Amino acid sequence: MTFSDLPIIPEIQSALKSLEYVTPTPIQAGAIPPLLEGKDLLGCAQTGTGKTAAFAIPILQQIHQINKYAVPYQPIGLIIAPTRELVVQISENIRAIGKHVRVRHTTVFGGVGQRPQVAALAKGVHIVVATPGRLLDLIDQEYCSLSKLQFFVLDEADRMLDMGFMPDVQKIVRLLPRKRQSVFLSATMPAPIQQLASTLLHQHVTVMVTPPARTADRVKQSVMFVDRGNKRKLLDRLLADPSRSRVLVFMRTKHGADRLYKSLIADGVSAEGIHGGRSQNARQRVLNAFRDGKIRVLIATDVAARGIDIDDISHVINFDVPVEAEAYVHRIGRTARAGASGESITLCDGDEYKYLQEIEKTIGMSIPVDRDHPFHSVDAEDEELRAFSNLERKKKSTRGGKRGRSRDSGTGKSPRKETSGQTSQSSDGGSVTKRRRSISGKVRKVKPRSPSHSSKSSSSRSFGKRSRPKSKRR
Ligand code: AMP
Repeated sequence: MTFSDLPIIPEIQSALKSLEYVTPTPIQAGAIPPLLEGKDLLGCAQTGTGKTAAFAIPILQQIHQINKYAVPYQPIGLIIAPTRELVVQISENIRAIGKHVRVRHTTVFGGVGQRPQVAALAKGVHIVVATPGRLLDLIDQEYCSLSKLQFFVLDEADRMLDMGFMPDVQKIVRLLPRKRQSVFLSATMPAPIQQLASTLLHQHVTVMVTPPARTADRVKQSVMFVDRGNKRKLLDRLLADPSRSRVLVFMRTKHGADRLYKSLIADGVSAEGIHGGRSQNARQRVLNAFRDGKIRVLIATDVAARGIDIDDISHVINFDVPVEAEAYVHRIGRTARAGASGESITLCDGDEYKYLQEIEKTIGMSIPVDRDHPFHSVDAEDEELRAFSNLERKKKSTRGGKRGRSRDSGTGKSPRKETSGQTSQSSDGGSVTKRRRSISGKVRKVKPRSPSHSSKSSSSRSFGKRSRPKSKRR
């Protein structure tokens, strides 16, 4: 299928051609026809799937066909998104796709003066792309009315929930006219999100594309166990490899991100940082410089990096293991964009192992360990062994029960299969070994087993043996 097979008007077809969009992505193929028929849509899709064009094309086309002047302060289309960056990206997409149609739009977000936004609303726009907080401010000041709204899009609903924006979203929803077309997009569908979707949508069509875990499939992932105090040195070592040409480094806190990018700059690394504490202008400038290849290393927090649409990110480095497993999927999804492959490296200290476990359950695989670096921490990895011991204890007490199987059930494979011992080349040129095999290797190092013993799979190993490296340290 190509875009020319879809009932899209020539003005938009020609814009798509100049964007070099030929084949609709699955969400576009699934969403555009029902949206053009005026139906509501529930889309389960994350950034990188082409979801923006999936709703932008039908809305632009319908507004163009309505053929009415934009009325001051009264948009007929509203797109709300959780972050300023995402709002700007959606607006850029609308500008590019709508360059030959008579549809005016503007952006509304906090952290900048409201005057230009009010001026745009006063002139009249068909579509407002907004973050919820500033939009409500402008509505309160009567610079924007939603009474004439016909098209409503809620983008990244799950992230709105995570960021605590749900009360604002609900306030906005209460202001919408009953008769409207609604699009609801979310990468995941936890219960509160499903509930909101059901109140918002009317006889909707559902399009689900690539569950979040799938992104993980295309990314070559590894974990490096390292003590917290050595993380910076390990990062320096990773950055010393010039093939890591465009690197996105994630930190949990904005203070951490701030310190790290400043110290990298002080060390002569081409680095910058984006986080919620920097001004909108600074964030946009940094993003543009990173996109243009003027900056090699971008240090970001999860919130600031949400929805970053930059191709060719060669590596994602998780300096901190994210507390939320979903954040991990979003982080590594910044590489491997548009079908390309990418690489992610997670630096895990002993305290973070519990988060890593949750992540592995969510992505349904065990992340290979790369020990081929001078900062490998036996202590940090021991956390894993301890976790295995706990797991085994639980297994014994709930034999046949669900809880004790959490780690193995996440992989969907039997532990025996996991010890196949495949090795792959790490980006350092070193070897990355499947973790279970490595654990057996480690145990063997402490007390060599007879060949018949060592040929047994991990499933038959006892956890008493697994925890032996601890006694080695004593
Ligand atoms: P999105 O998921 O909307 O953030 O889009 C991800 C990226 O895919 C953006 O860089 C879009 O420009 C690009 N894109 C969207 N649709 C298509 C398409 N049909 N063909 C090629 N690229 C696309």
